Amino acid sequence: MAELFYEDDADLSIIQGRKVAVIGYGSQGHAHALSLRDSGADVRVGLKPESKSRQKAEEAGLRVVTPAEAAAEADVIMILVPDPIQADVYAQDIAPHLKAGDALFFGHGLNIRYGFIKPPADVDVCMVAPKGPGHLVRRQYEEGRGVPAIVAVEQDATGNAFALALSYAKGLGATKAGVIKTTFTEETETDLFGEQAVLCGGTAALVKAGFETLVEAGYQPEIAYFECLHELKLIVDLMYEGGLEKMRWSVSETAEWGDYVTGPRIITDATKAEMKKVLEEIQDGTFANTWIAEYKAGLPKYNEYKKADEDHLLETTGKKLRSLMSWVNDKA
Ligand code: NDP
Ligand code: MG
Ligand code: MG
Repeated sequence: MAELFYEDDADLSIIQGRKVAVIGYGSQGHAHALSLRDSGADVRVGLKPESKSRQKAEEAGLRVVTPAEAAAEADVIMILVPDPIQADVYAQDIAPHLKAGDALFFGHGLNIRYGFIKPPADVDVCMVAPKGPGHLVRRQYEEGRGVPAIVAVEQDATGNAFALALSYAKGLGATKAGVIKTTFTEETETDLFGEQAVLCGGTAALVKAGFETLVEAGYQPEIAYFECLHELKLIVDLMYEGGLEKMRWSVSETAEWGDYVTGPRIITDATKAEMKKVLEEIQDGTFANTWIAEYKAGLPKYNEYKKADEDHLLETTGKKLRSLMSWVNDKA
């Protein structure tokens, strides 16, 4: 079972006594920089001079310097730029300024797990990853609450890396909700698997296949959209609140019976065998290497897939229908 840590397990004064650099000011970066500052830490934000995020950070009262200056000043350096560019930012702006006893922090383990970043042996290497988008992390902090986080230590050069990571997590409000100890390997592999097999990849493919099956059989796309996409939210909300049990309690007995007899015909042993292959390709680095190569090549296939789905009847139908439902928050 997982080890959990709360407010009393973490000493905020550790992070308050350090100089923190938050590199990047996006979804996670803004939440970390603002909440750590409000928790009494000495924070500077590292951004390129031409960065679009710069003005926002300055307006929030943060001191913004270049990533290299931030790394040189600080002794805790949190890297919150997009994963595919972290290795370049690390090599150019951070590595030259690392001193013995510094701490390198991450919000996701990918670059350490697959060796794209190889820190020197005399620095602590930690992860603090809130289990929620940055805007929720910040909002909960402002309301005096916290989003749970997972914390890991890859390299403990000082002997105090875990206490430092817990202190950082407390500065984000995470110990109010609970912090779970993990490893870079577990976080990275489960995160990639979850988003590919279930959350993003699996769900998107399931919705599309269901929608296409109904439309190809002659049903109206608008009706198919409601049945295969729109109503998914109601089901997921029930599962989120009370697991499969609450979902099955809420739907009709007919729907529940269909769930039992048809679900296993859709997600079959063959699907699970494929999931195992997907997991193996995550574990052996195939996925990460392919993705970084695609990114470096300028995202040719990524853009092709994106375009194909933008033009899918599911999406064009959905756009039209959502504009009729004022309560659906479609920011597009
Ligand atoms: P975003 O894409 O939201 O933000 C990236 C930030 O990095 C922007 O401020 C961008 O500034 C800046 N940036 C881009 N290039 C550089 C550069 N060369 N030097 C300095 N700054 C740069 O990232 P996320 O917050 O989504 O992700 C950051 C990390 O957090 C990742 O490791 C991710 O896996 C992890 N994470 C993200 C979660 C989320 O909710 N999004 C959840 C948990 C973990 P600009 O473009 O203005 O120049
Ligand atoms: Mg992820
Ligand atoms: Mg129905």
